[in-house]
Amino acid sequence: MYRPVSPVAAYQGRFAPSPSGALHLGSLLTAVGSFLHARHHNGCWRVRIEDLDRPRVLAGASAAILNTLEYFGMQWDGEVLYQSQRLTYYAEVLEQLRQQHYIYPCVCTRQQLAGKIYNGRCRTGIPESNQAQAWRLQVVGEIQFEDEIQGKFSQDLSRELGDFILKRRDGIFAYQLAVVVDDALQGMTHIVRGADLLDNTPRQIYLQQLLNYPTPHYAHLPLLLDEHGRKLSKQNHAAPIATPRPQNLLWQVLKLLGQNPPEDLLEASLSEFWAYSILHWNVQNIPRQLSVSVCQLPLV
Ligand SMILES: [Zn+2]
Repeated sequence: MYRPVSPVAAYQGRFAPSPSGALHLGSLLTAVGSFLHARHHNGCWRVRIEDLDRPRVLAGASAAILNTLEYFGMQWDGEVLYQSQRLTYYAEVLEQLRQQHYIYPCVCTRQQLAGKIYNGRCRTGIPESNQAQAWRLQVVGEIQFEDEIQGKFSQDLSRELGDFILKRRDGIFAYQLAVVVDDALQGMTHIVRGADLLDNTPRQIYLQQLLNYPTPHYAHLPLLLDEHGRKLSKQNHAAPIATPRPQNLLWQVLKLLGQNPPEDLLEASLSEFWAYSILHWNVQNIPRQLSVSVCQLPLV
């Protein structure tokens, strides 16, 4: 439907779902927001499947997610990237950080980690043992950034968060490491994603700085909450999307994103629908808040 954009496009964006279940209304909203933002800027829009957390991967979910995107007319550029096939990159970067003494092994068990903020117990070394170890990144200072939707955001990493894990005790690379490595290697310039990741961003910027990677532009979309005020998620068993006419649901998603689509867009074909919404996409109209509720959905 869309002319493939050259891989050297000035704008590189992505949608990066984890295949722990089918796409639901909340993840559709995120996909639509990142797709429209990219296409409005004549940019590349790629799909990356974040399937590192093997125990949480659901068989068939990746294919189902990709099918749903296609059904809704959101065609991505290039090959889909699977993080599970990129372990050598993550291992290389982790080794680089180890050689630079930015990370250290940690043998703390969940029981020893009372509270949310890691107290730096293993920072000065761990006893000789063959216990499984995680790798933690030593943090210092405060990170600030300007989010295109949410505005200024800052976090004091050492005080509010503590040293965080880049590789888990079970050998799985942490999301924070993989996302930073992939965004850099894929040349991402714009990260448009859900506001649940807003407070992960300072960690990612900190890592980018240590690795001398450029920091992309961030825009965090409001998260969709169900009628009880809970995040729509696979854990809450949010229903997979089923609709005989994708335009109707997309129209509602546009409404939630503050885009004010005209009523007659409901009668448009899917490609007319996208042509209109790409042209009229206005990030200024997105509610500058962390969440919106399904209760605000207009019924069509
Ligand atoms: Zn420890």
